[in-house]
Amino acid sequence: MKLSYSFYSLQLIHPFGIAGNTRTHTPIVLVKLAYENFVGYGEASLPPYLKETQETVISFLRKVDLSLFKNPLDIISILTYVDSIEKENTAAKAALDIALHDLIGKILQQPWHQLYHADLRKMPATSITIGIDSIDVVKTKTREAANFDVLKVKLGSRQDKAIIEAIRSVSTKPISVDVNQGWKDKYEALEHIEWLATQNTLFVEQPMPKDRLDEIAWLRENSPLPIIADESIQRFSDIDSVKDLYHGINIKLMKCTGMYEAYQMIKYARALDLKILIGCMNESSCANLAAAQLASFVDWVDLDGPFMISNNPFDDPTLENGKLALTNDFGIGCILKSDIPFQMI
Ligand code: MG
Repeated sequence: MKLSYSFYSLQLIHPFGIAGNTRTHTPIVLVKLAYENFVGYGEASLPPYLKETQETVISFLRKVDLSLFKNPLDIISILTYVDSIEKENTAAKAALDIALHDLIGKILQQPWHQLYHADLRKMPATSITIGIDSIDVVKTKTREAANFDVLKVKLGSRQDKAIIEAIRSVSTKPISVDVNQGWKDKYEALEHIEWLATQNTLFVEQPMPKDRLDEIAWLRENSPLPIIADESIQRFSDIDSVKDLYHGINIKLMKCTGMYEAYQMIKYARALDLKILIGCMNESSCANLAAAQLASFVDWVDLDGPFMISNNPFDDPTLENGKLALTNDFGIGCILKSDIPFQMI
């Protein structure tokens, strides 16, 4: 197996605001894994508020010695080895995991949703994110989201109520809410949530800072809406520490090292009766379609990455009745648009 990479920058259609920061682009690293005549693609998305950069991804990938493995289908051994190299680097690991899945699907001549025996009719519609912005821009973005059946709204600023009222002035669609740890007081948080419950809201993600364990547990007991952990959970091993604090978890490939661990997390969370959201960072079709292979197993889908960028290096995904349309293309089904230069690691 031969690994190569390409640095790329995803340009956002609208500057993206969440509680804490606003940005116009997101760096990514694309990876290509070649074996005989087959090629698999993977992606590491690197939002600036997280620790990884293009440079840390490459320095991690330089430590990976794939010559130890002769057969790409030896997926558990390969990914266990990759995970053992360093403790962190979850996005770099996800890039390799996605490329390996893509490669294996192509060798086996099957899309991953078939290898998972996923029933695509059960896939929930994906939400599209409305970031924190001026009231006029919030209304414009809501109107632009006409093809989507669910709106994901970023809250945690002083204008929370005004943002929801602006959306409700132009749309009655269900909304999900992501506070990104923005509310600092549990009584204030509960008041917000009780009001949101009257506004056709599905759930509230990460309402308070992740270290406020007692307050989050109190909120879970009192909230009329499901409370979902995002910043509070990264990997499989974190599930036990949040299972009694939240009603559910947000699984993202970039946090949990990729499709293999995400699938294990889904199975365990189901056994614990936790709700499951599958989410994303700013991502191209590559990481997006990789996550979508698993989307039939979850309660809510927030895979809007490629719809928020203007320079997707892969073919754009399509929607059918608000759901991500998965094809029968082998692997994860992402098709590179044009000649992107890849360099050997
Ligand atoms: Mg979130």
